[in-house]
Amino acid sequence: MDSHSPPLKTADYIIVGGGTSGLVMANLLSEDPTVSILVLESGPNRAKDSYITDLMAWLKHPAGHVLGGSSAINSLVFVPPSAAGLNTWEQMGNPGWNWQTFNQKYAYTSKLVLERPTVGTRPYTATINPNCAQRSSADVTYSAVAAQHPNLTILTAATVHRIMFNSPAVGDRYRAAWILVEITDNPDLKLVRTNRKIVLAAGVFQTPKLLELNRGVGANMQNHLIAIIPCLLSRISEIEDLNPGFQALAFIRLNNQKDLRLLDQFLSSERSATSGRTQAIELILANLDKASACIFLSTIPGPVALFGLIPCFLLSQAVQYLSITPSLHKFFDRGLAPTEASLEITKAAVRKKALTTHHTCGSVAILPLEKKKVVYSTLTVYGTTNLRVVDASIFPLMPHANPMATVYAVAERAADILKSL
Ligand SMILES: Cc1cc2nc3c(=O)[nH]c(=O)nc-3n(C[C@H](O)[C@H](O)[C@H](O)COP(=O)(O)OP(=O)(O)OC[C@H]3O[C@@H](n4cnc5c(N)ncnc54)[C@H](O)[C@@H]3O)c2cc1C
Repeated sequence: MDSHSPPLKTADYIIVGGGTSGLVMANLLSEDPTVSILVLESGPNRAKDSYITDLMAWLKHPAGHVLGGSSAINSLVFVPPSAAGLNTWEQMGNPGWNWQTFNQKYAYTSKLVLERPTVGTRPYTATINPNCAQRSSADVTYSAVAAQHPNLTILTAATVHRIMFNSPAVGDRYRAAWILVEITDNPDLKLVRTNRKIVLAAGVFQTPKLLELNRGVGANMQNHLIAIIPCLLSRISEIEDLNPGFQALAFIRLNNQKDLRLLDQFLSSERSATSGRTQAIELILANLDKASACIFLSTIPGPVALFGLIPCFLLSQAVQYLSITPSLHKFFDRGLAPTEASLEITKAAVRKKALTTHHTCGSVAILPLEKKKVVYSTLTVYGTTNLRVVDASIFPLMPHANPMATVYAVAERAADILKSL
């Protein structure tokens, strides 16, 4: 199950990337004992390394280059996507990719993630194992179960450099046949052949890199920005025993009247109707009963809190909203900066300080070919017969939530699709 296993020259399914989605796929495909599965993961297996299992390890890593991928180093926030957001995936041209399919079929999602009104706080789950208080990631959950399946091999330190196609094409579509791979411990194994399918789960940056000759690759990439406002906590009894860490998360609607005015302006301005960003903004503005921003509070050692804003939209408006909300003021020693500054000043401050949340997705989106996108809603790459993508790259629209919960659910659905074809 690791890089010391005997070398494989061929497998029915070759999965490129043993990260969050790749290990869900490996687990579910290997339930069928008649097929062989090979996972090629470029990073090492560090499932037992306390640097990884430690709940704060994510702070030091920009991306997950280990078995378990970004689920092994991320900030543990497991938030469901919104129903309206998932339904938009279908409206964008992907039959069956809607909230109902996910809610009915993927029980773990619906149990944790029952859609409730998103205005005001709602419970969120952290990916922490309650038995040992350590990180629960794809490598210690999905791959631990999959390790009991003898038809599955996981090679770590195995970096895929190229997908090679059969020539000539079948009709006008090419068949992905070989993977060119570099394995640190095994310089002899360079080419692996697939009998059936090659599945790309190398993440939102590396999957498009492997597909870069395909048109549309990268064009739909989306991310959440984050604005962090450090503020001194007041010494009041309600909050004096706070431990460092994540304290609260709320999805709120910022300002319905203002949003309606913005929607009017937005709809009358010149814009590209097919862009994912356009559709995301339109969706948020038009659904006034849904959240338009996610606000969280985290504490660090000492009397300091970090107010974070991961907006679905309108980052500067969210910053202003916080600074003028009277019920928050008693918790903060010197108020929340910036105070009631003008919107233009707030916008400039946010532009200067905004950071990435590492929620990137959509670089190889499932969208109709006429929109110049890359993957069919059956997850097949256009122009190929058997090359599939199953990771966060395929999201046509960024979820209105931290993406990990959606990555797990999409990978489960992807496994069902692959098994049925
Ligand atoms: C720092 C950080 C914090 C985050 N915090 C949160 C959070 O709190 N909540 C949340 O919901 N989301 C969070 N996210 C996002 C979430 O973790 C990701 O969206 C999700 O894990 C992506 O899953 P994936 O399967 O698409 O890719 P990944 O899990 O990143 O898996 C890709 C895998 O492919 C491997 N790989 C890449 N190229 C190759 C190659 N050529 N050959 C072989 N293997 C290869 C990589 O090593 C990696 O293991 C965070 C992300 C980061 C980076």
